[in-house]
Amino acid sequence: MNGLMMQHPLQIADILCHAERWHADSEIVSRNPEGGIHRYTYRDAARRARQAANVLTALGVSPQDRVATLAWNTHRHYELYYAVSGSGAILHTINPRLFPEQIVYILNHAEDRVLFIDAQFLPLIEAVCEQLKFLEHIVVLAPEAAMPDTPLGVQSYEALLADAPDTYDWPALDEDSAASLCYTSGTTGHPKGVLYSHRSTVLHAWACTGRDVLNVGNDRTLLPVVPMFHVNAWGVPYSATMAGAKLVLPGAGMDGASLYELIEGEQVDMLLGVPTVWLGLLQYCEKENLKLNPVRDVVIGGSAAPLSMIRDFDEKHDAFVIHAWGMTELSPVGTVNNNSRLMQQLPRAERYALQTKQGRPVFGVEMKIVDDQGQELPHDGKAWGRLLVRGPWIARGYYKHEDCSAWENGWFDTGDVATIDPHGLMQIVDRSKDVIKSGGEWISSIDLENCAMGHPAVAECAVIGVPHPKWDERPVLLVVLKEGQTATDTDLLDYLSGHVAKWQLPDKVLFVNELPHTPTGKLLKRALREAYQNLLME
Ligand code: ADP
Repeated sequence: MNGLMMQHPLQIADILCHAERWHADSEIVSRNPEGGIHRYTYRDAARRARQAANVLTALGVSPQDRVATLAWNTHRHYELYYAVSGSGAILHTINPRLFPEQIVYILNHAEDRVLFIDAQFLPLIEAVCEQLKFLEHIVVLAPEAAMPDTPLGVQSYEALLADAPDTYDWPALDEDSAASLCYTSGTTGHPKGVLYSHRSTVLHAWACTGRDVLNVGNDRTLLPVVPMFHVNAWGVPYSATMAGAKLVLPGAGMDGASLYELIEGEQVDMLLGVPTVWLGLLQYCEKENLKLNPVRDVVIGGSAAPLSMIRDFDEKHDAFVIHAWGMTELSPVGTVNNNSRLMQQLPRAERYALQTKQGRPVFGVEMKIVDDQGQELPHDGKAWGRLLVRGPWIARGYYKHEDCSAWENGWFDTGDVATIDPHGLMQIVDRSKDVIKSGGEWISSIDLENCAMGHPAVAECAVIGVPHPKWDERPVLLVVLKEGQTATDTDLLDYLSGHVAKWQLPDKVLFVNELPHTPTGKLLKRALREAYQNLLME
């Protein structure tokens, strides 16, 4: 017997309609790429999203067509999140930090017909436009008066919107139909497309609002510094809207000074982003002797949050780090380590250590660690294994791509190696390709980085496995020092030996001016491994 409940498909447009009806006056504040701060409400955003949907119709966009964006976190990009998916087309957000050949590849692979672009990114397209096989329209996200000089045939978003009616009936869509498309940065091979559905997007956003997840409510003010071109800014444009929270969008201003100004000016209480952005903000605050007064929570994911960062946010800014783990294939949120009864009972130092773990799965994500034979490993906090997941917002394949090697028996192999402790807290040990295999033992590069980051002179660091004639691989530590600070390799090794076993100590410490990053802000360890492959072979 079926339950006697209504059938109502989960649709992205309904999220904005809900906010318009029930949280109409909650604000969206955005730093304009053309300068100045833009401020409006969910009421205004919903009206403009309907206008944008009419613009799409006028441009000839049909259901399930792919519509690309190359844009910062702004109110205009936000409107497109709803206009494109809500009208039944597929929003394809592109990371402008990709290499030009990758941008060409994904625009062609997705067969994008329309591109909405911030003026700053136009040169990327000017350089490759001959190679774009499917692109028919380029719309610059700017008013007519701020339109840049470009040889491309472009239109102004604001001019198009001004001519568009503000009535639009969002179509009823199949909840399983595709809503948005994100490509993983593809450190090897071509980027691969993850195609989210309306259902997966709504469920993921819904789950993220939860108290033990990101705790998003109408009384909160969120600043997603995580870009809207990276896994839909972790779903924040949806979950904030669902809850009617105030949303603050940083535009192109990701530096410490710009972020600080927004945080203070808009009384932001929740920050969300990858560790590298927070390094910049924390250093700026330290230099200027500033406190992030309104901030209560800092959601950190994308790479491991170092203990020193967790401590700095707490001790200097009274802000709690919510450590989260996920990936593009997971929409992206998989686990979250929010404040728990256990944490509240611990002295601070022990709590910080616990916060370096990536936490429990959000309800909706099933998770296990397995050995090489696929046997499940115990939750003892010690056994390391491949981390597998499954659930309604986890990809079951890549868009137009035959590679299904990451899926086994309905589970997705994340490519991460992890432990799970008796409390159920998962901890990422490493990406399987970054684990250092030394004489039959494994060394976690994340663990070593985490320790080295605790040294007061270290601004950023990376640990890589470098081929070694006797031990297969040995760890090498690369360090960027904080401005005006000094330290020697012996200082760092002495410091580390207080925290890790002797056989895990790096064979060499190298000081560098900067470290390479992927387009999503992670350390580009493959490049480092290539650069230093002969370092220990003499
Ligand atoms: P890409 O795969 O394109 O680099 P993703 O954002 O999908 O981009 O990367 C996901 C990977 O990032 C995860 O598999 C994991 O290795 C790493 N990661 C994400 N969050 C964390 C975290 N909190 N701690 C450690 N690693 C993380």
